[in-house]
Amino acid sequence: MSKVLEIRDLYINFRTMWGVAKVLNGVSFEINDGEIFGLVGETGCGKSVTALSVLRLLPSNAQISGQIIFKGENLLEKSEEEMRKLRGKEISIIFQDPMTSLNPLFKIGDQMVDIITLHEGLSKEEALEHARNLIKSVGLSDPERILNSYPHELSGGMRQRIMIAMALSSNPSLLIADEPTTALDVTIQKQILKLILDLRDRYSFSVLLITHDLGVVAEVCDRVGVMYAGNIVEIAPTEELFENPLHPYTQGLLSVVPDPRTKKPLKPLRGSVPSLLNPPSGCRFHPRCDYAKDVCSRVKPELIERSPGHFVACHLYGGEADVEG
Ligand code: SF4
Ligand code: MG
Repeated sequence: MSKVLEIRDLYINFRTMWGVAKVLNGVSFEINDGEIFGLVGETGCGKSVTALSVLRLLPSNAQISGQIIFKGENLLEKSEEEMRKLRGKEISIIFQDPMTSLNPLFKIGDQMVDIITLHEGLSKEEALEHARNLIKSVGLSDPERILNSYPHELSGGMRQRIMIAMALSSNPSLLIADEPTTALDVTIQKQILKLILDLRDRYSFSVLLITHDLGVVAEVCDRVGVMYAGNIVEIAPTEELFENPLHPYTQGLLSVVPDPRTKKPLKPLRGSVPSLLNPPSGCRFHPRCDYAKDVCSRVKPELIERSPGHFVACHLYGGEADVEG
């Protein structure tokens, strides 16, 4: 299977007033053609930073090393001009809150036409026709009314559908969706996720789906990477991850999914997310881990493949721990 995106050994530091925040600590993963890959973890674990780095949209205090290979080319070696051509055309992004991307002062039609003509070189009439088709393809009826609406005249779910329509207007190979349903209520959330699935099936683009919500992962992702404090600690096909989580952090995340009968978390993760200004040595999870051994605070565990397609970075599964633990 060919890969649309390969991230290799990505390190990102931010220079801040308080010191250097080591935000990504050697992240590697890949996304296959037509696949929905989920990146899951708590707030501040580096998911959004990973997404923004693919678009090269990080703030200027970011120092970045590693490789981001998109369709065989390293994006970190591209000029700003080349990146501008890729953004929104080959790689699109949608965010949690569509209102941050839609201009409240302009009608949806004008905004869609702007985006479409920017990349496609169509006339205004052709762009409008394309916009009508896109609106229908994201499951909204009455395109004429939508085109003539201002963003505030639409519901949150409709606005997110419009964002998806705009993101797909140039037929991208990769859609990055950063918490696309977090601001929506549960019913609408399910509809938007189903829409993303249906559109992926129809147009076969790949998706990098960022979420803190394992329910969202279960609903749509083919494979999933679990992030903790700037590292990917586990990667597996979705079903495999839920059935056989290997990393203690993944196990903890799964056990805090509320029990449907009591609505209470089964076993909360103890401790809190570490500061990335001064992250724990070795395995960054070791201060919170019930299984930590001596080696864990000294040596960073590598991500290794334990069974076909199932990777884990933890000394419990061979490597250093076998020798030194
Ligand atoms: Fe726990 Fe050690 Fe595994 Fe880290 S490497 S998750 S501290 S057992
Ligand atoms: Mg985020």
